[in-house]
Amino acid sequence: MEKSLPFSFEQVQNWVGKHPTPFYVYDEAGICETVSAVNNAFGWNPGFREYFAVKATPTPAILRIMEQMNCGADCSSIPEILLAKGSGISGQRIMFTSNETSAAEYRTAREAGAIINLDDLTQIENLENACGIPETVCCRYNPGQFNYATNAIMGHMYDTKFGMKKDQLFQALKTLKEKGASHLGIHAMLTSCSLEQGYYPALARELFGLVLEIRETLGITLSFVDMAGGIGIPYRPGERAVDIKTAGEGVRLVYEEMLRSNGIELPLYTEMGRFITGPHGYLLTTVVGKKHIWKEYVGVDASPADLMRPAMYGAYHHITVSGKEDLPAAETVDVVGALCENNDKFAVDRPLPHTEIGDVLVIHDAGAHGHAMGYNYNGRLRCAEYLMHADGTLQMIRRAQSVQDYFATLDVDKEFKFE
Ligand SMILES: *Cc1c(COP(=O)(O)O)cnc(C)c1O
Repeated sequence: MEKSLPFSFEQVQNWVGKHPTPFYVYDEAGICETVSAVNNAFGWNPGFREYFAVKATPTPAILRIMEQMNCGADCSSIPEILLAKGSGISGQRIMFTSNETSAAEYRTAREAGAIINLDDLTQIENLENACGIPETVCCRYNPGQFNYATNAIMGHMYDTKFGMKKDQLFQALKTLKEKGASHLGIHAMLTSCSLEQGYYPALARELFGLVLEIRETLGITLSFVDMAGGIGIPYRPGERAVDIKTAGEGVRLVYEEMLRSNGIELPLYTEMGRFITGPHGYLLTTVVGKKHIWKEYVGVDASPADLMRPAMYGAYHHITVSGKEDLPAAETVDVVGALCENNDKFAVDRPLPHTEIGDVLVIHDAGAHGHAMGYNYNGRLRCAEYLMHADGTLQMIRRAQSVQDYFATLDVDKEFKFE
């Protein structure tokens, strides 16, 4: 798939004339289209809900879009619960999936009326001591090994810290029922950033098998199944996006075969983050230096403090030089920022059109785990976020951090003065 932009060179010029770079732009129409596609793909399942993973893009304007489109919010901390509530998402439209959870977190989740998703058998006691056992509880499953439909092992679940083994999961459900929970569900997330078309149907087969076994051995009919997130996006040109309609249809076939035919109807949930907002966010940054030493460097005014994925994971993010979309890739460069760290590279040995100081680079697919992972290393202040409406206008949805914000927690130090 070619990488295109939903805005023009003229729009970019207009924006950077008014707002200092770097900044994020989210394409509202694109986000809405993707959420609609997800809702349609699972529209056959009464009660289906996408719980948007708040950690991907924890910005209220984005969460309000989710609220308007009937989504819930998947949260894992008190601030994320507060963000969801403040954006109009409340009660069982909040899924609280946490691990190493504190009593205060359980209490906040319970007060919000959230569905609490337990990561471990030992958490039942912690939950009970913190706030009692609610009527609705979910339990997270870790199968150790996940045999995908093709028999390739997709996830290395032995290595992942999340969820319970099968015997523990069954014990947890039994105990929760004895303690009064009457509305129980199961959850599993067995991959991350997967472009496998068949992942959700294969996961459904695994989880629906458990639904049947749980009914047979424990006499518990589960009330919902949460297939979580993990669906990837095509970061590289040429990669293929997951066709969510086909994935939803694949899940429907497994549902008919395993659940409906056995007289079970239950709502399915997903918790996608990356798939929903990832492709629709862009980081705009200006070329501020060109350097020729042992390699060619293009220096920009953004850094991993704005977008950490390339430095942290070596992740590929496509880069377009605004206004030079159709020019040939005339130079091979490293695109670098201002951090005093040599992993500060948005791209390594990347063929790009010839760039000049003042050109604006657009870094693609930064809409999830982008601004959210920002930090303040080297005294780098976090940048602003804008929502681009369907008519092409920009709305600031988070201002850039100020020096005052950066120093706010130093208010305890009375000797420190900054002017
Ligand atoms: C991170 C996370 C998600 C979202 O993952 P994506 O890869 O962004 O879809 C969903 N559920 C849980 C529990 C998570 O930790």
